[in-house]
Amino acid sequence: MKTVHVDTGKPYDIFIERGILDSCGEYVKKLSPAQKAVLVTDTNVAPHYQWRVLNSLTQQDIRVKTHIFQAGEESKHLGTISEIYKTLADFQMTRKDIIIALGGGVCGDMAGFAAATYLRGIDFIQLPTSLLAQVDSSVGGKTGVDLPQGKNLAGAFHQPIAVLIDPDTLKTLSDDFIADGMAEVIKYGCIKDSAFFEELEKGDALKRIDDVIETCVSIKRDVVSRDEREAGERMLLNFGHTLGHSIEKLSGFTGITHGMAVAIGMVLIAKAGEKHGITEPGTADRIAALCKTYCLPTETEYSFTELADAAMGDKKTAGGNINLVMLSKIGESLIRKTPLSELEDFITV
Ligand code: MG
Repeated sequence: MKTVHVDTGKPYDIFIERGILDSCGEYVKKLSPAQKAVLVTDTNVAPHYQWRVLNSLTQQDIRVKTHIFQAGEESKHLGTISEIYKTLADFQMTRKDIIIALGGGVCGDMAGFAAATYLRGIDFIQLPTSLLAQVDSSVGGKTGVDLPQGKNLAGAFHQPIAVLIDPDTLKTLSDDFIADGMAEVIKYGCIKDSAFFEELEKGDALKRIDDVIETCVSIKRDVVSRDEREAGERMLLNFGHTLGHSIEKLSGFTGITHGMAVAIGMVLIAKAGEKHGITEPGTADRIAALCKTYCLPTETEYSFTELADAAMGDKKTAGGNINLVMLSKIGESLIRKTPLSELEDFITV
């Protein structure tokens, strides 16, 4: 068992262990006074794992109701949240009760948002089942949904009372979903840890995935505990995400996953950094090579004009400027405030 302690306003632990899904009930019993739980999961994950979690909870005499929504980013909107609220209210959940999020990033973000807002906030536990959720989205307390105008525009900061990571769940993921998570893994090496980046370059990360997950959540924990509400350092976690979000937006959020878009975004912003003398020469090529090792794309058909235009509505814009996360070199990152009017020029190489 690996344990990573997160010292946010409300501290909690991340537990990494194969088979931990079967002990979920014991953790709930230990950490919460809940007598009832709503298990939120999706149509992909439910058939694989819901019974194991349900069994574990009922063994501890916790009454459980399952809420299953249609898998996919298309479900990440307020309509689905309304349906979750209905399940919570019909089951007469009180402030002492708990929501269990079993699934990938979309599930954690939505179950977390429902937990943050129902009865002005109830506890929740994350059981992330995708690599992306295990290394990134289940840690840090960001919850929310997409609006028609953009991704994650409505949300709340709400920390879980625990994150239980079972790396065995990765066995049921398709290669695309593994690649999706690997983009965030590579991101952590880029922004904070050159030795970790070099480890990844050996190409065998999937063989040591438990250690990889621990390294990623430890890096994220360090950043988030210093800057829970993204006033500064936490922005570094958005490396590759500004142009990545542009690509996702331009593609209408179909045909390309978040991780694929972030991979391209990391390469593009590193190239821009090299052009402006901010980033050590050769960095973009190294990132591109590593992305290819883990079956991630590194190029896009969209023009720099399209990418810059799409970035205008990004959350990271403020007062006519956009905060771009850049690298000085692998393992060292910085935030560069760039006027929106200069963005297209800045990223064009
Ligand atoms: Mg991301």
